[in-house]
Amino acid sequence: MKNVVSKLNRDGKQVSPWQHTSKIPVIHHHENMVYDCLIVGAGITGITAALKLQLAGKTTLVAEAFTIGYGTTGGTSAHINTFADTTYTEAESAFGKEGARQFAHAVNEGLNLIRKNVEEYRIDCDFKILPGYLYAEDEEQVKQLDDIYKGAVSVEVPVEYVSDVPTNVPYQKALKFDGQAQFEPIKYLHRLAQEYLKAGGIILQYTKIDEVESGDGVHVAKTGQTSIKAKSIIYATHMPPGINVLNMRCAPYRSYVFGVKLKDDKYPDALVYDLQEPYHYVRTHVINGQKLLIIGGNDHKTGHDDEEAAFADLEEYTRQYYNVDVVKYRWSSQYYVPVDGLPYVGEMPDRADGIYCATGFNGNGMMLGSVSGAILADLILGNANPLSQLFSIKRFKPIDGFTEFVKENADVAWHFVADRFKAEEIKALNDVETGVGKIIELDGKKVAAYRDEQGELHTLSSVCTHMGCTVKWNTTEKSWDCPCHGARFDIDGNVVTGPATVNLEKVNV
Ligand SMILES: Cc1cc2nc3c(=O)[nH]c(=O)nc-3n(C[C@H](O)[C@H](O)[C@H](O)COP(=O)(O)OP(=O)(O)OC[C@H]3O[C@@H](n4cnc5c(N)ncnc54)[C@H](O)[C@@H]3O)c2cc1C
Repeated sequence: MKNVVSKLNRDGKQVSPWQHTSKIPVIHHHENMVYDCLIVGAGITGITAALKLQLAGKTTLVAEAFTIGYGTTGGTSAHINTFADTTYTEAESAFGKEGARQFAHAVNEGLNLIRKNVEEYRIDCDFKILPGYLYAEDEEQVKQLDDIYKGAVSVEVPVEYVSDVPTNVPYQKALKFDGQAQFEPIKYLHRLAQEYLKAGGIILQYTKIDEVESGDGVHVAKTGQTSIKAKSIIYATHMPPGINVLNMRCAPYRSYVFGVKLKDDKYPDALVYDLQEPYHYVRTHVINGQKLLIIGGNDHKTGHDDEEAAFADLEEYTRQYYNVDVVKYRWSSQYYVPVDGLPYVGEMPDRADGIYCATGFNGNGMMLGSVSGAILADLILGNANPLSQLFSIKRFKPIDGFTEFVKENADVAWHFVADRFKAEEIKALNDVETGVGKIIELDGKKVAAYRDEQGELHTLSSVCTHMGCTVKWNTTEKSWDCPCHGARFDIDGNVVTGPATVNLEKVNV
């Protein structure tokens, strides 16, 4: 075993404030060993599940394709809330009063789990309890706000109307949720990982699980030249790889964040959210001794809008309400919106027995990823967990989620057909400018072409290897993103985000 300093990479070119170095011991695993559980993915969901299983006496191994926190956990904005993107009113209309109550319990359990870990392991991760404010700017939003209030009261989440919100934005009505929190996600994750290693767990970074063969109660996961055997597998990959039922139930969204130094000291000591569509939020974080306004939102479906325009809008909004000195960080990342509002956690219906996953956390994966990690561990340990029913992947809600379901899938179908016939017809490769990616047509075939800073062209098949949609260039994170199910590829076609498992084919021109 030797210690290496591993730099935290992220699945995009923009840098988030959480990308700092950490020592992760390299441990070699034994190919003949049959582990109780293989956890694929070292984000907040995977590491939470792995720690719980390992502490319960199971033999486990975490395989991470890149580095710990490489996925959305390294690009989160790290709010910890007692309310969620799916309001309790929405949860009640889809899952009944008891369902909404359980959902509120799950969100709160997520918060409590993070707080308990911070206290128990004395994690120095800037964890801070703060009030949260939600405000309405017009009559329509006031109705929404009242609805959110009623839903929260109905499931006994502490909330009150207030007239004083720490924001520069004019508003009509506002709510205060006490007992929210914020933290530094990667400091937290690295410490949990250290506790996991201390308990005897194994983490293999730069270990991508390519495929799994199942038989006789043992799964064999293939990775490069080697393989890992396990009795059960958790895909903590944010979206499980390959074509599966969850591709149809979750829609990928891209979200944008700035870390801004202000000219004055008007940083809010609270978590503040508006109700615009798309919405905005602000909070404060001290990074390397410097106070920064963390401001973000402006979400849109992956591959459906221009990323630079989204950043430009966010910057305009920020400058309108805050006295900006300098934008120190800007980054974006991807999350998944579940069609009926709640996460999907449990055994995968379309895989062999003993293969689990968790996804559909919306913008609330700090709490819901943590609690899902705990649910998955309970399922494997045989412990009763009342939330496993509510979040079951096998649930079917044809009426309540129907409108959204149709909307998301109609959109997927449109990309299947329309993208294949409507190309941006740029005939000359010379039209591809430096630093830009474009879909061009060559000999009747659509090609994803990117010209790097040295002038070299990188040309790939534009057909997503997951389900055949046409990829779209992400101008800010410098990746090819699939607008259908959120698979992402780097400029050489390598998969950076599932569900695709196969790289984009290289095209020689
Ligand atoms: C901009 C933004 C801001 C957000 N802000 C908040 C917030 O304030 N509060 C909140 O609660 N939530 C927030 N969220 C959501 C939250 O960040 C995510 O839900 C959460 O980080 C997901 O964690 P995860 O562990 O499930 O997935 P990830 O962090 O994405 O981890 C999955 C890991 O699996 C690895 N992997 C994938 N495939 C393989 C494979 N085949 N083999 C091996 N490894 C593999 C990946 O490399 C990755 O490291 C935000 C999301 C975005 C996009």
